[in-house]
Amino acid sequence: MSDKPQLRHPEKARKPDNPSPRKPDWIRVKAPTSAEAAEVRKLMRDKNLHTVCEEAACPNIGECWKHRHATFMILGDTCTRACAFCNVKTGKPGAVDVTEPENLAESVTSMGLRHVVITSVDRDDLADGGAFQFVACIERVRAASPDCTVEVLTPDFRDKPGAIDAVARARPDVFNHNLETVPRLYPTIRPGARYFESLRLLQRVKEVDGSIFTKSGIMVGLGEDRAEVLQVMDDMRSAGVDFITIGQYLQPTLKHCAVDRFVTPDEFEDYKAVAKAKGFLMVSASPLTRSSHHADRDFAELKAARAKLTSAAE
Ligand code: SF4
Repeated sequence: MSDKPQLRHPEKARKPDNPSPRKPDWIRVKAPTSAEAAEVRKLMRDKNLHTVCEEAACPNIGECWKHRHATFMILGDTCTRACAFCNVKTGKPGAVDVTEPENLAESVTSMGLRHVVITSVDRDDLADGGAFQFVACIERVRAASPDCTVEVLTPDFRDKPGAIDAVARARPDVFNHNLETVPRLYPTIRPGARYFESLRLLQRVKEVDGSIFTKSGIMVGLGEDRAEVLQVMDDMRSAGVDFITIGQYLQPTLKHCAVDRFVTPDEFEDYKAVAKAKGFLMVSASPLTRSSHHADRDFAELKAARAKLTSAAE
């Protein structure tokens, strides 16, 4: 834990007891108790690395870590933002760890990953928002594991000119940036971000390098309605996004925003059908969908979907 004072989102501070409705039967999660999960945990500690799986209290950690699939969270474990949905701690982050790219690359090699997902906390305190560290991690992973594909899940790099371009020019295979929710809910759910700036980021990646797959996701159950979700889909398609993920928001602690409602599996199926009809190459929509869930398998499907589309056009 940081010994620095923690910043808190006013919404979180105002609602110390903020219960969500009871979880329905279709939300079932397994604890990370397998031997493989213990190995992943030890490796992260030994290499002084963080995962968003642990920091964000992801419900899929038991399943993912059993298959040695983890999402690395670089640039420390302390975020400069305080989004109302996120369990990652907020405060003043420490110095950037210059050994992190090497440690991450060594971990990818020792875990034998074919596809790695690298995300980070927001680093509004850094002049480049942490873009340089993303680039260093991509380059080190490529050098150490040439057959491993790389997916980045970046912050929005607000007011960090050149940061998006720098990361895109390092040519990750997938560039993911989550819109998280519908624009109406940004002031309460994601107050430090701007919907159209996030959308513009996704569009910019395609302008820099059209061959990079772009991906974005939202959580539902935060108070949005169906029409708003469909509008987000249209916005993403306008920005050229290839892959959309839609999952149920779960409240990490009582200090966070409460679940407005649990979206039913049938409604997720409906979102999936609509998103496919709108032209996304890939759609993942289910209660436990998370941006990095099954990312290796999904990447293979994403490539196959583009190849099919290209051959049909020839
Ligand atoms: S879904 Fe992503 S964040 Fe969650 S446990 Fe799996 S790899 Fe980690």
